[in-house]
Amino acid sequence: MEDLPPNAITSPGVINELRKYADPRLRYWGEFLSVASPSPKALETVRIAAEGSGDDARLSPVDMEVLALALDLKATLLTDDYSIQNLACVLGVKYQGVGFREIKKVIIWKYRCKGCGKVFDKNQQDCPICGSELRSTRSRG
Ligand SMILES: [Zn+2]
Repeated sequence: MEDLPPNAITSPGVINELRKYADPRLRYWGEFLSVASPSPKALETVRIAAEGSGDDARLSPVDMEVLALALDLKATLLTDDYSIQNLACVLGVKYQGVGFREIKKVIIWKYRCKGCGKVFDKNQQDCPICGSELRSTRSRG
């Protein structure tokens, strides 16, 4: 599961969607997230920009709400949605991918030797092959 940056903020529509689909991210992120609504002016700006770029057909009202909020707050938008990223670009809103597609995978920690690069399932004092330090690494299973 990805970590949220500090002071993460989202719109009420996103919270509703996460609730609707009983998304586990809500439970994980709930305590870190602040919720705020965008201004009507920002929403209008986003709607006009979406029509102009042709993204309006692919964007839900919630997508536009989030974009408007990022515009209002001059915040970096966390999204993997291509249409949202495209419109963010048009609006001059900074965005960053979050790897949502990876999120359902389980993270399994493994231990890789700094010396010879051999990977072990369990942590050990040092590498039984070359004696170097082991470093934890995550492998997705
Ligand atoms: Zn080694």
